[in-house]
Amino acid sequence: MDLGIAGKRALVCASSKGLGLGCARALAGEGVDLVMNARTPGPLEEAAATIRAEFGVAVETVAADITSQDGRAGVLDVAKGADILVTNAGGPPPGMWSDWSRDDFIKALDANMLTPIALMTALLPQMMQKGWGRVVNITSVSVKAPIAVLGLSNSARAGLTGYVAGTARQVAPMGVTINNLLPGIHATDRADALDRAVCEAEGISMEEARARRAETIPARRYGLPAEFGATCAFLCSQHAGFIVGQNILLDGGATNTTL
Ligand code: NAP
Repeated sequence: MDLGIAGKRALVCASSKGLGLGCARALAGEGVDLVMNARTPGPLEEAAATIRAEFGVAVETVAADITSQDGRAGVLDVAKGADILVTNAGGPPPGMWSDWSRDDFIKALDANMLTPIALMTALLPQMMQKGWGRVVNITSVSVKAPIAVLGLSNSARAGLTGYVAGTARQVAPMGVTINNLLPGIHATDRADALDRAVCEAEGISMEEARARRAETIPARRYGLPAEFGATCAFLCSQHAGFIVGQNILLDGGATNTTL
């Protein structure tokens, strides 16, 4: 299927690795030019060079912390006029409800709620003016079903979800869609870090930790960044213009809900 977005330009945040990289690669595969971002320049440049060589699209890079005001300003300076925005950043740390101070909440809200909102605020007006735009926010299954140890993430991402629910309806008349992708467990560095923590705590091998976690997923495996990226590219396609304000779970069936 031709997604009809060749020649468009996308900002994909936090995209040198993992799910962001999966989205960047899938969009590049459809002929979309990219602005890629991550904090660490080395892996970012490597990922960009691979994409340029593999897909022949233009790729600009901005090494910056997307959750900081200065970092965002630098990224937006390069990405102005983008037709497609994929928001992403690292998730907040785990803990107990009693661990977190006001500052911890402010930091989580800044990173996982106010950063995507600031990016949308900056890029939506031009999309609306052109009469076409696509925004995909990478959030988490924790929006549908709370992950108790991720209280900071549950809170910040729920706030973003509420904002998107209303805003998506306000920009849809101008041909702009906003949707959220909710990853369950995917095979990325973040999943490795969580599995490594289980290995250390329980004295088991990585293989055993992974197998145990995969057993909790009806699909009996972790998701792949490439299939996550393919879903993102479809949401950014010409065919997805009637999908507005949705929260799409990509979790192998792990969240036990009917709707
Ligand atoms: P990952 O494999 O660790 O990759 C994270 C990417 O984001 C890297 O390119 C990293 O590069 C970049 N990054 C992190 N913080 C950044 C920042 N402040 N500014 C700019 N770039 C930043 O993570 P992932 O698994 O793809 O996860 C992506 C998001 O999905 C996270 O919010 C995570 O909580 C959420 N999620 C993931 C899963 C999963 O199973 N993987 C499940 C549910 C939710 P630098 O470190 O160089 O900046």
